[in-house]
Amino acid sequence: MLALVKTAPGPGLSLETVPDPKVDINDVLIRVRKTGICGTDLHIESWDPWAAKTIHPPLVVGHEFVGEVVETGSNVYDFAPGDIVSGEGHVTCGLCRHCMAGRRHLCAHTVGLGVGRDGAFAEYVVLPMTNVWTHWPGVDEDVAAIFDPFGNAVHTALAFNVLGEDVLVSGAGPIGLMATAVVRHAGARFVVVSEPNETRRAIAARMGATVTVDPRERDLGDVARELGMVEGFDVALEMSGAPVALRSAMDAMAHGGSIAILGLPTQEISLDINQLIHKLLTIRGIYGREMYETWYKMTVMLQSGLDIRQAITHRFSFRDHELAFATARSGDSGKVIMSWTD
Ligand code: NAD
Ligand code: ZN
Repeated sequence: MLALVKTAPGPGLSLETVPDPKVDINDVLIRVRKTGICGTDLHIESWDPWAAKTIHPPLVVGHEFVGEVVETGSNVYDFAPGDIVSGEGHVTCGLCRHCMAGRRHLCAHTVGLGVGRDGAFAEYVVLPMTNVWTHWPGVDEDVAAIFDPFGNAVHTALAFNVLGEDVLVSGAGPIGLMATAVVRHAGARFVVVSEPNETRRAIAARMGATVTVDPRERDLGDVARELGMVEGFDVALEMSGAPVALRSAMDAMAHGGSIAILGLPTQEISLDINQLIHKLLTIRGIYGREMYETWYKMTVMLQSGLDIRQAITHRFSFRDHELAFATARSGDSGKVIMSWTD
């Protein structure tokens, strides 16, 4: 099969012919149709310090995908050829305390698809049956291709109650954009999106932001007061990884507010813990998706009118992967999709 491979340590990815993945008794073999490019893929492509420490080539990269089941292992009864599926890219151990209790998102032994095992930027991908999610017939395949980051958005956006609350989304990358639509759908009052990039602010406005803000130009507390918030934001979703964004969010929170942090900083962040204490703030880290509560919520919200399609801005053939990666890296894009069927 053809696959996008990190063949050796160092920058770049190449389209290679590699053996089809082996199907074990508990596995599902999937013919990949569409994939989404994630920041993780960009880190692996550019071979930054995180990638150099984490990735062991040769490796087929990629983890956001939708495809069609073509073969199942002898233990697998719940999936059949023709099913349209996506994969939960965190393959958990199944044996630890949390896995045994059904809290698989808390597993400390997670192996990432396209990170610690061969991934989905390929004509075929294999996953254990416990990592496969079946879509409903007629699902929009572009949307199905990005269930993984959509799940990050939903997991973060629903970490705290947003119904009737004022929400700050800091960072309008693909995940912040989807989170904006989710909190709007979930009944937030004001949704303020803070994002330096103008293209992304414009998409956020179309996806449900009450106001979009360039944080280099406007103070978030001033924006909250102008909107008529009494003290500040009730909930903040940190989706930028920028230290200054987290500190600005803390400054602009109401007493008793809650901050869910998804954005991965590349350095330590110093915070005013006195502010955390005196405002009685709650801060929670978010990793991945809840298996499979988040997947269930994604499905039913889409079926009840949530629309995240505007977060997808570009579509390429896998053969144009270099252009697709450059577009994703540019920042002047939302989600970038590669098709594997042409
Ligand atoms: P992205 O890099 O495309 O988006 C981040 C956005 O933050 C960019 O648009 C950037 O312009 C903006 N930004 C930069 N400085 C800012 C500031 N001071 N204030 C507000 N916005 C600012 O990333 P993405 O794909 O949308 O993912 C969002 C974040 O979540 C990233 O940090 C990513 O690494 C992280 N992530 C975490 C998990 C997890 O499981 N915890 C999973 C996926 C992604
Ligand atoms: Zn485990």
